[in-house]
Formats: sequence, structure tokens, C-alpha cells
Amino acid sequence: MTEINKSGTNDLFEEHKKVFPARVKGKFRSLKWKLLILFLSIYYFLPFIRWERGEGLPNQAVLIDTASRKFYFFFIEVWPQEVFIFTGLLALAAITLFFVTSILGRIWCGYACPQTIWTDLFIAVERFFEGDRVQRIRLQNNKLSFNKIWRKTLKHLTWLLISVFTGGAFILYFTDAPTFFKHLSEFQISYPALFWISTLTLSTYILAGFAREHVCTYMCPYARFQGSMFDEDTMIVSFDEKRGEPRGKVSNKNAGDCIDCNRCVAVCPTGIDIRNGQQYQCINCALCIDACNDIMQKVKRPTGLIKYDTLTNINARAKGLEGSKIRIMRPRSIIYLTLILTFSALIIYTLSAGKKMIDINVIRDRNPMYIQLSNGDIRNAYRVHILNKYPTEQKFTLSVEGVKGAVISTSHQGSNKEHGLIVNIKASDIGDYRLFVDIPKNNIKAGNNKIKFVVIGEKAQDIYDGIFIAPK
Ligand code: SF4
Ligand code: SF4
Repeated sequence: MTEINKSGTNDLFEEHKKVFPARVKGKFRSLKWKLLILFLSIYYFLPFIRWERGEGLPNQAVLIDTASRKFYFFFIEVWPQEVFIFTGLLALAAITLFFVTSILGRIWCGYACPQTIWTDLFIAVERFFEGDRVQRIRLQNNKLSFNKIWRKTLKHLTWLLISVFTGGAFILYFTDAPTFFKHLSEFQISYPALFWISTLTLSTYILAGFAREHVCTYMCPYARFQGSMFDEDTMIVSFDEKRGEPRGKVSNKNAGDCIDCNRCVAVCPTGIDIRNGQQYQCINCALCIDACNDIMQKVKRPTGLIKYDTLTNINARAKGLEGSKIRIMRPRSIIYLTLILTFSALIIYTLSAGKKMIDINVIRDRNPMYIQLSNGDIRNAYRVHILNKYPTEQKFTLSVEGVKGAVISTSHQGSNKEHGLIVNIKASDIGDYRLFVDIPKNNIKAGNNKIKFVVIGEKAQDIYDGIFIAPK
């Protein structure tokens, strides 16, 4: 049954308590800063890296070219016809995440998730303008004053500036970065670009500035199902209850090692108390480890009261037994590792030896299905696409096989029955032709006839199995 709170409304939802994480120093915090700088640098500067691909092709190392529907990643070029590679890459990324999570717990959430990174950055800005935890809480509770207004205004303006850069950087993955800046300087910015910049600016500002830990707690689906990847040997941030309890002052000789200073709670970005055991809000950021280690050093007790550990060890210690070594190779991780290796091998093969450098696609006209020419031959019309995936212009010979006496022609080239049609296609481009195939009526049967469309390039060839329809 829901209770009625003081304001007279039903307590369906927990009251929102703002979290003011305190500053902390330590090896995990320093690792998180380094990763934050690395990931943000990659995100903001990657579109500016150039990669020479040849004349007429984009020279941006990483680009999603929506006009040609191609994805460029340094030396890799993915065509729309190869979109299955993305599926493979996504599956590989997911399985790698499962593998890492099964061993190191929520390491993605704590160190690499964009929500964590941008929230960390926004909290650093907040701390710069409003001070550490105590000053921020005081400022929040203070009445409106000049001091409060200028601090909050500058904080929000800096947040907005970061958000605009974040939204702007996203666009650079879809367009040539220097050209975009040239257009920007001339105030020429397209409406779709403006829409995406505004949307990402707003979402960064709201998610990292206000929603913060609520994204992890209430919105992120991954937080909910990753428990299924955990087992007894997964590393989790945990409080050593046996050593820490009962809590008490340093001077209390009967108390455990936890001096109940609450420092681990104060630094926690999700505002939880790790001493209450495993909680789904814990993102395994390890900042409470840094905080507690610092306190332990100050009171001259061994560090590691809060640490990365496994449930196997925690349970063993609770029974007074010694903890054992971390088991990385176990059935679950071996399965994940096998899948990772298989997917990686398949993707590498598809992108190298297995990559088709020429691709022919043929669509037959359905209306009319065929026509009869004045000399009695039957004609079918087709739309032919030849993909030249080489970084240079190539000459191709297009012909049909499988039926005697077939003559092919395009709307702009005459017929050539002996050698096929010669077409030149620019580097990394698609040749689009309307093709006619004429066959003497006596050489084909009524209904469907199998024919092969053959395209032969300077270095490779491709065949498309098609159908030629003759009247009944
Ligand atoms: S920081 Fe360590 S000593 Fe302080 S309350 Fe947390 S667990 Fe106890
Ligand atoms: S409990 Fe510790 S590891 Fe978990 S989110 Fe809070 S500070 Fe990070």
C-alpha cells in the first residue's frame, strides 16, 4: 500500500536527493582522469585526422558519408552492401563487453561509459565554480545572492559550451570537418546539422548536468541485465565486513577497522553506501576505494577495507577462510573468448581476403516483362549496378552468358555481342546502367531462362545469376 507523505501526495516515487560527490585522490581517480582525457580527445579530435584515399575520395580518416552511404575508417571502407560487417562489429563489441563484465564487473560503467565521462567532466566544472561537496551543499541551501548567481551562471555557461562542442563534434563524423568549419565561418549551416547539434547539445546538458546518476539507476537497460553476466568470480567493489564491523571511533579498541567517517559515501557519484552490500546503483568506479584507502593510511591501518574482490573470496572470508586467487578462465569467460576470436577472425577475413572488390547487382524490369523486337528477338531490360571498390578508376567488361546469341546494349552504348560492353567506373564508385538483353526466340524456352551477368575487371570479376523471361 502506498503511503501519503507530508505534502499529501502518494509516495510512489522516492524523493530525489541531489548527490554532491566530494573530491577524492587516489590511483583509481587518477586512472579515471587519464581515461577521461583519452576518450574525450579521441571523440573531439578524431574527425580532424586526414587519410589520403586518392582523387575524388574523402580524406577524412573516420567518416560516415551519408551521400554515398559509405563508412570510412582509416584504411577500411564499408559499402552499403557490406552492412553485415556492422552487424558483426556490433556483435563483437557486445560479446567483448560481456567478457570484460564477467571478469571485471561494471568496468564499462565506471570508466568508459559516455554518461560517466561527461558527468565526471560536468562535476569537475561544478566543483571549479562552486567548491567541493560542503561548499556546494551550502551554496545550494543558501538564499539567492550575487555570489550564488555568478557561480551558478558561469557553471551553466561552461556546461553549455561543453555541450555545444559535444554536439558539434558529433556532426563532424558525418561531414568533412574542415569544410564544415569553412561553412560555419560563412554562417552556412544546414538545417539537419543544426537539428543534430541542438539535440546533442541539449541531451548532453541535461544528462550530464542534471540527470547524472539517474541515467545509470533508472534509464540505462545495460545496468539492469548485466547482473546476468556476473558470477561468483566476477570482480566487484566490496566492503570487507569481517574486518570493518562493528564500526566505531579510532579510539574504540573493540570496534572494527571502519571508523564510520562516511568518506566512502561522500565521494560516491551515485550517493550509495557500499557498506550496505552490493547495490545495483554501484557503477564500480572504485572512488570509494580511493577514499577509504586514504582514511586507512591516515589512521595507520592497512588499506583495502573497501576493494575489488570476488563473491567467492567475500564468502570464504565470512567463514573465516582465506581468499583464493582470481579465476579468469572459467566456462563463461571461455565461451565469450571463443566467440570473440571467431567473430574477429570472420570480420578480418571479410575486410581483407574475403572482400569483393567488384560487385554486380542486377534488377530486371517487371513492366513490361519483355518485348518482341521487329526481327522476332525477345528483349528484357535490366538495371545494372557495378561497384568498383578499388581506389583507382577501372575498366570493366560486361557480358551475359548461359544463352546462345544474346546481345547486350545500354541506352548510351551500342550493342556488342562478341566482347561484351566496355565501361569505365571511377575510383570507389558505382556504375549505374540500363541494360537491354536481346535473344533470338529460338534460343530460349518459354517462361524463365537462366542467364549470367558477368563483369570482368582488370584484377577481379563477379557474376550475377539472373533470369530472362520469354513469352509463352
Ligand atoms: S571510508 Fe572506510 S572507514 Fe570511512 S566509513 Fe567508509 S569504509 Fe568506513
Ligand atoms: S559504491 Fe563505490 S564503486 Fe560503487 S558507485 Fe559508489 S563510489 Fe563507485
